[in-house]
Amino acid sequence: MQKLIIEVRANEYAMRDTNPNVPWTAEEIAETAAACRAAGAAIIHFHTRTDDGGPAFEAEAHMAAMVAVRSASDILIHATLGGPDRAANAQERIAPVIALAEAGLRPDFIPLDMGSSNVDIFDAAAGAFRSEEATYGNTTGTLRYFATTLKRFGIKPSLQIWNLPMLRWATAFADIGLLDEPLWLNLLLSEGGYLAAHPGTIAGLRAFLDFLPAHHRHHWIVTLGNADILRLAPEIIVLGGHLCIGLGDYPHAERGAPSNAQLVAELARLAEAAGRPLATPAEAKAMLGMA
Ligand code: ZN
Repeated sequence: MQKLIIEVRANEYAMRDTNPNVPWTAEEIAETAAACRAAGAAIIHFHTRTDDGGPAFEAEAHMAAMVAVRSASDILIHATLGGPDRAANAQERIAPVIALAEAGLRPDFIPLDMGSSNVDIFDAAAGAFRSEEATYGNTTGTLRYFATTLKRFGIKPSLQIWNLPMLRWATAFADIGLLDEPLWLNLLLSEGGYLAAHPGTIAGLRAFLDFLPAHHRHHWIVTLGNADILRLAPEIIVLGGHLCIGLGDYPHAERGAPSNAQLVAELARLAEAAGRPLATPAEAKAMLGMA
């Protein structure tokens, strides 16, 4: 079976109320990166944060984190353009990435959310949505601009696939040459009132797998928001998927609030039990056709 790529999703915009191990500063992110690499992760995805956990979008914050992570580890870096919480136009969103590339600090991956969605959170207990006007927009023109820019700088798009229409958009982009093979498809599942992705079950995942583009070489990885991906991991490992895990997606309080590296180690144990070796960063790069 092909080697398993583990990506740690270190922090997103998680606070520390349920798990104090969420890394915020560049130094904390770098420590997390090295520990997760030692535990078996090939890729780290992180958001730059201020010292008190707020979002830090400036190029300087990205640069400090890139330098710190690269000096601590050879783990591949999946940076960010900011997400639904970021009110900015396409040029502003990608400006820090261009600044990094021009400074010789090119990230290995940048996420492209391949469409738009309502992103209000549903509170089933309260019987109401927590908001009613939250949207996240990525127009086709914006995505074409991002894809073209990333290609120019040699950065691999991590295609964030929330639902089947986003998978169809990614496939169409590949059909017209805006994305290079192999496609790196991050299939999103979510629970906890986040309704914009597929349900966090194997059935939710299988609904994607039936529509993976047979005419484009691709690899797929799974992210589960707001639930425990370790429950689904044994089956995903056997199905040939790759796996994301981390405190950015779920605090894992019922497992005693572990660190990111402890979560990666748990995934590594499951992979070993299934006889599937882990990909090193260099091996992941080769599998994903990256220079
Ligand atoms: Zn993110």
